[in-house]
Amino acid sequence: MPVQVHLNLDPETAADDISVRKICATSARLDLSGISEIRILKRSVDARQKRIKVNLTVEIYSAQEKSETFIKPFETRNVKDQKEVVVIGAGPAGLFAALRLIELGLRPVIIERGKDVSSRKRDIARISREHIIDPDSNYCFGEGGAGTFSDGKLYTRSKKRGDNTRVLELLCLHGAAENIMYEAHPHLGTDKLPRIISAIRKSILDAGGLILFGKRVTDILIEHRRVKGVVVSGGEEYFSPFLILAAGHSSRDIYDVCIMKKIDIEMKSFAMGVRVEHPQELIDTIQYHGNRRGEFLPAASYNLVRQVDGRGVYSFCMCPGGFIVPSATSQEEVVVNGMSPSERNSPYANSGMVVEIRPDDYVKYSSHGVTAGLEFQKELENSAWANGGRTQRAPAQRLTDFVNGKTSSSLPKVSYFPGTVSSPLHEWLPEAIGKRLSEGFRQFGSLMKGFMTDEAVVLGVESRTSSPVRIPRNQETMEHISISGLYPCGEGSGYAGGIVSSAVDGMKAAEAVAQSLGYLK
Ligand SMILES: Cc1cc2nc3c(=O)[nH]c(=O)nc-3n(C[C@H](O)[C@H](O)[C@H](O)COP(=O)(O)OP(=O)(O)OC[C@H]3O[C@@H](n4cnc5c(N)ncnc54)[C@H](O)[C@@H]3O)c2cc1C
Repeated sequence: MPVQVHLNLDPETAADDISVRKICATSARLDLSGISEIRILKRSVDARQKRIKVNLTVEIYSAQEKSETFIKPFETRNVKDQKEVVVIGAGPAGLFAALRLIELGLRPVIIERGKDVSSRKRDIARISREHIIDPDSNYCFGEGGAGTFSDGKLYTRSKKRGDNTRVLELLCLHGAAENIMYEAHPHLGTDKLPRIISAIRKSILDAGGLILFGKRVTDILIEHRRVKGVVVSGGEEYFSPFLILAAGHSSRDIYDVCIMKKIDIEMKSFAMGVRVEHPQELIDTIQYHGNRRGEFLPAASYNLVRQVDGRGVYSFCMCPGGFIVPSATSQEEVVVNGMSPSERNSPYANSGMVVEIRPDDYVKYSSHGVTAGLEFQKELENSAWANGGRTQRAPAQRLTDFVNGKTSSSLPKVSYFPGTVSSPLHEWLPEAIGKRLSEGFRQFGSLMKGFMTDEAVVLGVESRTSSPVRIPRNQETMEHISISGLYPCGEGSGYAGGIVSSAVDGMKAAEAVAQSLGYLK
């Protein structure tokens, strides 16, 4: 039996394999030469005290023992002639649904409005350079979905470890570094993601699955409250009595299709706000208690949350050593989000700072019924565009000016490539958001001394943190509450959020379809 030890080391020692091996031998009272292998099971940085430590849980194997490979393989099989299941969207939910369908012996037919990951890169570059948004190919739409040009943070608040672990395993099998299996806060980085997504595509195609790019689903065919297939831009039809709907939450046109086809959707609370950016060095100094980060610690992050006036105000998708990116999906809107490369080595630290939004914050849109939240979201994004100079430049304000209600006379350099325009966000953000954010920032300033600085900038708007609507489903069968054969999943269904939880949800939708077909007992 391998011996398990818990170590609490300084960062330099923890980074040195030989030292870790020696310490393991001492802790386990083994002779160094008697150890055949050590395997890290868990790694986290503990920065609560001035002396920063790294916690490691390690499994030690003696010379007679051999560690078994701990990543379960992808059980591929040829599904070319098997029953077809149409999957809308090649984001994390759609791709992982497809992988799972293959494992279960079904043929996924993925219909994706955007382009493959390499063609998509050119459209992404045009957004920053020419301020042109292709409504089908951008930071949210295209192969890999919103997860491709993202930070690739892989942690989730969901506690279902088994499911989460399987997503991490599949990512490793497609090229992700194995450290994602044991880091407390696993992260891939935007530079690594496209290669992993291409490898997933290859697995799907090699197994006989089908991926159709550049085809937007414009209609869902329904007969007697049962799914029959879909119609795509251009008019072609694809038939299947099983449809996994994984179109993400930026796909407003899919919600229009739902309304047109009397597929129930319902309102839910969501969150919107701004993105704030600080120099990374400043965040390191605050979080590492004045110590220099040095080469053995990661770029520091933070996680802030407060209740203000009855609503949660919190940091969201914090990207240490990252960049702010333009994530709009149509021309006359500005939406910001964040990502980082695997090394997290940019000089900036950014984070979404959002306020929980409930229907009573947007009663003025109540005539829109269940899509009132989407209208509120659009209003905010259009305001950001108008206040940013009607380009992809983002309206921006120094953090201290935002809190003190002053327009900034100058702005520091930021990571957001399309540029910024000084704008009084405190004046035009809806009160439900602006006032709470301002108070939230004040409180964050007392929690993290140095956070409230005029070196920090807020950029508008962070509006796509979560879906304003839900496509209700039976939680047991995952089938839509009133349309048979329709399986809403991923972020757009309103039941998941983030890469890992959307991927898990996609796999579960695949299993639900297989169960209904008798492929899974
Ligand atoms: C810049 C950025 C950074 C992010 N960073 C992180 C992070 O670090 N960690 C994290 O967990 N999450 C992050 N997220 C969020 C994460 O990417 C999403 O939660 C996740 O991608 C949702 O997965 P999904 O498959 O449900 O939907 P999506 O990823 O949105 O995928 C939906 C897919 O459906 C396609 N589609 C939409 N409509 C249609 C249609 N009508 N016909 C055909 N295809 C259609 C879209 O083109 C898209 O490819 C980030 C998001 C962005 C934008």
